[in-house]
Amino acid sequence: MVNHNSTSEIRALLETYGLSLKKRFGQNFLIDAGARRRIGATIHDELSRQSAEIGEVWEIGPGIGALTAELLALNRPVRLFEIDHGLIRVLRDQFGDSVAIEEGDFVRTVAAHERAAPAAIVGNLPYYSASSMVARIIESDLSVPVMVFLVQTELADRMEASVGGKDYSALSVLVQSHYTVTSAFHIGGAAFYPRPRVGSTVIVLRALPDRPSRSVSLRTSYIARRAFGQRRKTLRNTLRPYLAALEAEAIDPGLRPEQLTPAQFRGIACRVPENSPEELQ
Ligand code: SAM
Repeated sequence: MVNHNSTSEIRALLETYGLSLKKRFGQNFLIDAGARRRIGATIHDELSRQSAEIGEVWEIGPGIGALTAELLALNRPVRLFEIDHGLIRVLRDQFGDSVAIEEGDFVRTVAAHERAAPAAIVGNLPYYSASSMVARIIESDLSVPVMVFLVQTELADRMEASVGGKDYSALSVLVQSHYTVTSAFHIGGAAFYPRPRVGSTVIVLRALPDRPSRSVSLRTSYIARRAFGQRRKTLRNTLRPYLAALEAEAIDPGLRPEQLTPAQFRGIACRVPENSPEELQ
C-alpha cells in the first residue's frame, strides 16, 4: 500500500517504477490525509442524496491513487481515466481488478463512454486542462448528476462567477446552464507534492433539473464564447447574426456579455436555427 502522506515514500515509489513527476501533466499529488478524507466525505454526501444506489464513480487523473482509495470505500464501481502510462502500472499493481482503467487523454478516451450515466465524476484535476475537461463533459451526451473537483481557486471562481462580475465568462455561462456550482472548501499548497504556486478549491457541481439539450448547449456555448471573445464590445457588434434572436428575447443589443444571465444566453440559442452553421465552431 502506498503511503500517500509521505513525500519521501512517493519519491521512492516513483523511483522503483523508473518514473519522474511530469509537470506537463499537472501532477500535484494530494499528500494531506485530512484533505483526502474531506473530499471523500463530500462525494459520499453527494451520492447519498441520489435516489438510486447505482452507477459508476469516475475519477479523472488518479495519479498514484491518493483519492482512489477514498472512492473504493464508497462501494461503487470505480473507473479511472489516466494519461500517464507509467502511473497506470502503479495503479494496476495497487488496485488490480477492483477498478476499470482508461488509458490516455480523458478528453479523448471519454468518447468511448459518450452515452454513459456515471453516478459521479470526481478528480483532482490537472491545472493545465481542467477547464477543457469540464467543458468536454458538459458538452457531451453524458448524464452526470454530480461532479466534485479539486481545481485552482481561480478556475473555481470563474465557474461560480455571478453575472456582472470580473470572473464571469463563457465558461461560467456553460457550467451554470447545466449545474449549480458551490465552492465547498479551500486546500492550501502544503497539502500537495509538489507544492503548487496557487491555491486550490473543491467545487461541487449539481445537475439542474431542466438541463438544455446537447444541441442548445453547443449553440449557447458558441454564442457565449463569441460574445465574451470581445467582452468590451456590445452584443450589437459581437452577435450581429443573431440580432433578431436578441430582439425576440427582449434583450437590449447595447448590453455587454457580462450583463447577460446564462438563461438569457440560452434564450438566444433557442431562437437560433438548429442547423446554424456556426453551431459547432
Ligand atoms: N488524483 C491524484 C492526487 O490527487 O494525488 C493526482 C492528481 S494530479 C493533480 C492530476 C492527474 O491527472 C495526474 O495523475 C496526471 O497524470 C493526470 N492527467 C493529466 N492530464 C490528463 C488527461 N488529459 N487525461 C487523464 N489524466 C490526466
